[in-house]
Amino acid sequence: MKSEVDVVVVGAGVTGLTAATRLVKAGRSVVVLEARDRVGGRLWTDTVDGVRLELGGQWVSPDQSALLETIDELGLKTFSRYREGEGVYVGRDGVRRTFSGASFPVSARTEAEVDRLTAVLDDLAARMDPLNPWDMPGAAELDQVSFAAWLEGQTDDEEARDNIALYIGPAMLTKPAHAFSALSAVLMAASAGSFSNLVDADFILDKRVAGGLQQVPLMLAAALGDRVVTGSPVTSIAHDAEGATVTTATGQWRAKKVIVAVPPTLVSRIAFSPNLPPIQMQARQHTSFGLVIKLHITYATPFWRQAGLSGTAFSPYQVVHEAYDNTNHDETRGTLVGFVSDENADRLLALSDGERRAQILASLSAYYGEQALEPVAYYESQWMAEEWTAGAYATSFDIGGLTRYGATLREPVGPVSFGTSDVAGLGFQHVDGAIRIGRMLADAV
Ligand code: FAD
Repeated sequence: MKSEVDVVVVGAGVTGLTAATRLVKAGRSVVVLEARDRVGGRLWTDTVDGVRLELGGQWVSPDQSALLETIDELGLKTFSRYREGEGVYVGRDGVRRTFSGASFPVSARTEAEVDRLTAVLDDLAARMDPLNPWDMPGAAELDQVSFAAWLEGQTDDEEARDNIALYIGPAMLTKPAHAFSALSAVLMAASAGSFSNLVDADFILDKRVAGGLQQVPLMLAAALGDRVVTGSPVTSIAHDAEGATVTTATGQWRAKKVIVAVPPTLVSRIAFSPNLPPIQMQARQHTSFGLVIKLHITYATPFWRQAGLSGTAFSPYQVVHEAYDNTNHDETRGTLVGFVSDENADRLLALSDGERRAQILASLSAYYGEQALEPVAYYESQWMAEEWTAGAYATSFDIGGLTRYGATLREPVGPVSFGTSDVAGLGFQHVDGAIRIGRMLADAV
């Protein structure tokens, strides 16, 4: 038997739940069909070995006004990341140095080049509307060159290039800088307000939500009640001029409109009839998830604090390219969060669990000393192994794809519209972008 609703939303991530919440407020009947047995998608707060961990997204920055509004509406509280003391940087020469402030302890020449390139990228980002990056003057040229090649054309200082590449490649798109375009790099910067914002860890990793960021989708879903149906992967959508029939293993829904709120790479798992237009299928084949292992490593105490360290660590030359103090606001133990990205992740995922752990802990000991080798709990978030995500943090275009197909990803097909954080402008690839796109999708319906 078919149930009838005004709108079917596919996916109970933040995008889908935001759209559904807005539609219900506007008096529409809605069902949200979610493949997993839980809601939240790439937000997942769970307790592992007695430690509450943010397995997916966690940080909120001051420019993310859509997310901050939602946090406020839900009555959630935020707290600041621990940031007293010095950061650690391991340079191209392999030497570990501590630093305060935003600049890494590099040579005067490298620092001047990093500052100059930061100004160039800030200027490019200021010229871009992140919602329509393909409209920026010079967009086609920037989209045809890899970010790595663009950086080579800008400076002969390798350590400056490696650091600028780190901020956008491993740290954000989680792809090597030769695998995405300079335009995609500018989009990442523009979507955070500027490149300077993106490189400022105190800005971009400003706040966390007490109790975990997954509370946002959990509370949105709780308010929607039995309109949210989990454990129901959508397998097909048959659409016509009047509406669409949406099928899962357990049921069928007829609706006037459908919002497919899943990453572009997962749209192809749904059989459309009639099939999506060729350009829609092409467009999605030019996007892919990045690859990152998120590490959660807990120690008996936050021992780095006694050594005068904030826990913040960076190096383009370490397996763990960045790490931070991620101790929960109500914990006495100390937890570090770290990341292994793109080609380093390829290499480490090919090792046994024990070998991978040994290499990761050795990398942390290069930043924090030998105590880092003795954690009391160790966990790796492996989103690449999750059927309904298959990568992290998000999807992005291959070289040339953004100008060629970017606009296509937000075009509806008949009664079916599409969206996720990965097609947002402001908040691109972030929860803030998911909320903005969720609102846009609901308003368009
Ligand atoms: P998703 O969360 O991917 O939701 C899509 C939903 O659709 C999923 O629940 C999926 O199960 C479901 N689905 C897929 N296919 C089907 C189908 N056929 N039928 C039914 N359901 C389906 N963002 C930040 O703002 N700050 C951070 O610190 C941050 N860190 C991150 C760290 C990690 C490790 C990861 C993975 C992400 C991080 N992000 C961060 C990104 C952020 O989590 C995402 O941008 C955001 O949660 C995406 O929301 P979404 O609803 O657009 O997509």
